Amino acid sequence: AKASGRNNYQFFTQTMNQAASQHFELESSLRGAMARKEFELFYQPIIDTGTRRIHTLEVLLRWRRGGTELVQPDQFIPIMEENGLIVPVGEWVMRRACEQSVEWLRQGFDPVPLAVNLSPRQFMNRGLIQSIRSILDETGIDPALIEFEITETALMQHGEQTLEILGQINRMGIRLSIDDFGTGYSSLAYLKRFPVKKVKIDRAFVKDLEGSAEDRAIVAAIIALSNSLQLSVVAEGVESEGQYKLLRENGCQYAQGFLFSQPVAAHEVMALVR
Ligand code: C2E
Ligand code: CA
Ligand code: CA
Ligand code: CA
Repeated sequence: AKASGRNNYQFFTQTMNQAASQHFELESSLRGAMARKEFELFYQPIIDTGTRRIHTLEVLLRWRRGGTELVQPDQFIPIMEENGLIVPVGEWVMRRACEQSVEWLRQGFDPVPLAVNLSPRQFMNRGLIQSIRSILDETGIDPALIEFEITETALMQHGEQTLEILGQINRMGIRLSIDDFGTGYSSLAYLKRFPVKKVKIDRAFVKDLEGSAEDRAIVAAIIALSNSLQLSVVAEGVESEGQYKLLRENGCQYAQGFLFSQPVAAHEVMALVR
């Protein structure tokens, strides 16, 4: 028993070391990823439930590590959030999305607003407002075609300063939505103090919509209260017609999920829009 205990311990430390060195490798290759142009943007439709047509495209970051393997954001965004890389990379995301939007317009496609994720770290960065201004100027994009998604938790972290920054973004003509709603501990009544137009219900509440009466009640309540506060609602992670039907019946205006489309590369987007 003693011997196997030691083996377990060795195994445990070995696994820990492996995890630590993998993390280290990931972090050091991430540092050079931007210079090597390994980041790409994918786009996922947000559907208008009244027409089942595309209303907005959410912009989602991907990392083409070493030029081949496609890495998903949950593998690298938390690391960049921790070491601060998310600030320059997030700025690149904004710029690239705006350039892409202008490019699509020039090619003659109907304008579709883009929703860009803003991380908590970016949101609190002093240079944020200035960098948004430069991007608007340099790309010439109509700010009405841009929307920022900010998580509920990020909004709750910084009190009065939050209100100030959101106000500045809002005055530039960029719309704001609250991401991952329901995962934090805020109330819609409180969030209504912010100049926000849209609430995105987190996938966690949508997943078991058909099976769980409790989740149905929560989602119905969020939609009803949002609508009474003149906020529109997007449901994330819609994968089935059953979920979609329940959401529509409860007055949810927008839906996003694999039922409609996975996130796709830029060259595949316009085939969806048409
Ligand atoms: P999020 O903002 O909640 O984005 C929605 C995520 O749900 C995306 O994952 C999307 O692919 C996934 N999703 C959409 N529909 C479905 C569905 O029907 N079923 C399931 N199972 N998943 C669905 P993705 O692209 O892996 O992104 C994960 C998270 O990474 C995002 O969550 C967001 O928090 C973060 N992220 C992605 N791109 C960026 C970025 O450019 N900047 C920042 N700061 N964060 C980003
Ligand atoms: Ca989002
Ligand atoms: Ca979300
Ligand atoms: Ca989410």
